[in-house]
Amino acid sequence: MRKLAKTCEAIAATTKKLQKTTIVAEYLKSCTTDEAAVSAVFLSGKAFPAWEEATLQVGGALLWRLVQEISGQTETALTAAYRKHGDLGAVAGHVLQERPGQSLSVVELSKIFREIATARRTEAKSALVRDVLTRVSPLEAKYIVKIMTGDLRIGLKESLVEEAIAKAYGNPPADVQRASMLVGDVGETLRLAVGGKLAEAKMRMFHPLGFMLASPIESAEEGLSYFAEPAVEDKYDGIRAQAHVSGGQVRFFSRTRDEITESFPELPDTLAGLPVDAILDGEIVAWEYPPDPKQTREVVDEPFSEEAEAKAEGLGQARPFSVLQQRLGRKKVSERMLREFPVAFVAFDVLYAAGEVLIDRPLRERARVLDELVKGPKHRGHTGSQGNIGRQGELGFEEVERSFTGGIVRAPVFRAVSAEELEALFSAAQARGNEGLMIKDLASSYSPGKRGKSWLKMKRELATLDVVVTAVEFGHGKRVGVLSDYTFAVWDANKDRLLNIGKAYSGLTDVEIAEMTKWFLEHTIEDQGFRRTVEPKVVLEVAFNNMMESDRHESGYALRFPRIVRLRPDKSAEEADTIERARGIFSSQTPGSKLDRKDL
Ligand code: AMP
Repeated sequence: MRKLAKTCEAIAATTKKLQKTTIVAEYLKSCTTDEAAVSAVFLSGKAFPAWEEATLQVGGALLWRLVQEISGQTETALTAAYRKHGDLGAVAGHVLQERPGQSLSVVELSKIFREIATARRTEAKSALVRDVLTRVSPLEAKYIVKIMTGDLRIGLKESLVEEAIAKAYGNPPADVQRASMLVGDVGETLRLAVGGKLAEAKMRMFHPLGFMLASPIESAEEGLSYFAEPAVEDKYDGIRAQAHVSGGQVRFFSRTRDEITESFPELPDTLAGLPVDAILDGEIVAWEYPPDPKQTREVVDEPFSEEAEAKAEGLGQARPFSVLQQRLGRKKVSERMLREFPVAFVAFDVLYAAGEVLIDRPLRERARVLDELVKGPKHRGHTGSQGNIGRQGELGFEEVERSFTGGIVRAPVFRAVSAEELEALFSAAQARGNEGLMIKDLASSYSPGKRGKSWLKMKRELATLDVVVTAVEFGHGKRVGVLSDYTFAVWDANKDRLLNIGKAYSGLTDVEIAEMTKWFLEHTIEDQGFRRTVEPKVVLEVAFNNMMESDRHESGYALRFPRIVRLRPDKSAEEADTIERARGIFSSQTPGSKLDRKDL
């Protein structure tokens, strides 16, 4: 671990990507394969490979307590060190002491991480973490704490680790990247690279892949400027989900690659009826089913037409995100929930089907495969457990038919060749209650985990930012006992540092505030009485009327009338917006721009 910590110091000391990958490659080559494999995961800032669901469940508050206990520092001294270094790992490196005989290998550390993840009780977790931190030198502790908090802050992303693997073992970088994407584990990818077996990497069912992401656009003209053949879909306001269907088993994964099947018990049965094993990409949405659901299938080549529009209407329609929210965060979903807030899986892409990986095929072809897979009456789901609704006396047979709970819907695909057509589709999407449009390049492959210009999003509220909460305060009036005022930040250009940009008094429900209060209390890094610096993990979507240049916050901007649109538990802090996006919004505010027209 000592060698890895020193390598991290060297990586942090340079801003040049090429140098960083060279340092990592040299380090990997100096290790045994076992050491290199776990190090690759650690160097990506993770305790476990991406696909795994294991998490350490060790909060910042617990780490803080342990660092304080082992170092024997006072709270004031530790707080001062935190203010100076701005990161608990660096604090640990500073205040812990060198002792003779300290040593821990990376392989041992990875074993202990697994024990920590499986330990149920906080005392058991504490004991394991204490043991680790006393067995290592301050420099090692610095990076162990950083891995435990999920961020090394040395400017090294997983993609750079992949490049380093390619360099270390003489493989083409694209092969390493592809294998890593398929197996969802840089460590295992490294093993394949060492053995010259990258080509053997296989798509694995129930190992979620990264999600392809979209870039925001500010106008219809911009939406048509990046590629020749756009496919246009509604932008549904729900939760992104990847469905893995194999041998009659169905599991759903969220963008953070957590399994979310339990929250939507009505969906698996419908998807289990797919004719072949498949991985689908889509959005889980609260859904208003039509009295007699008809067609699900929509052909991608269909030109923009009223007919396509009419078909889209026959599918039923999405209900607002607030309806879906009633279903979230529950361990057990009651019959009443299933009945009152039914959901649908709106499928818009297919990554794998019938033994074939499809991500390299153009969207045009993937769309056809999806059309074939999701057609006919399957989307009608099953009435199954609904049989007893009638007995409860509220609903008759007709309503039973109408209120079936689960379904898969193929997202209708439209075409637009002019900005006017796109605007018309945008209005139609909004009239259906959807957020806006997604504009996708029919010639593009599926790039897991990448945000590029092959998928574009055109949203109702142009000026929303995804931000990370950095500090919280107790509210006033009826919010006096709860943490309801949030200071939030965007990333700097290198995604190394969070820059505060605003503060909002909650736009969340009382239940959400209560849940957030509990979370923030458990994940406080520094308690300043009325204010708490918290672990930067919670992502919010905030809307605002406009943006001003201001020295009130370190970002150099302030927001006018900021309001929290919603929590984004589906996004990790790394996925929040950067200062560049904020700058883009700011500069598009000039008179006559699209943002002005939208009443900002
Ligand atoms: P945002 O969450 O604002 O970054 O917008 C991107 C998200 O829109 C995706 O991650 C999906 O969850 C969601 N989305 C809704 N409808 C679609 C669609 N038709 N195609 C792709 N993504 C969609």
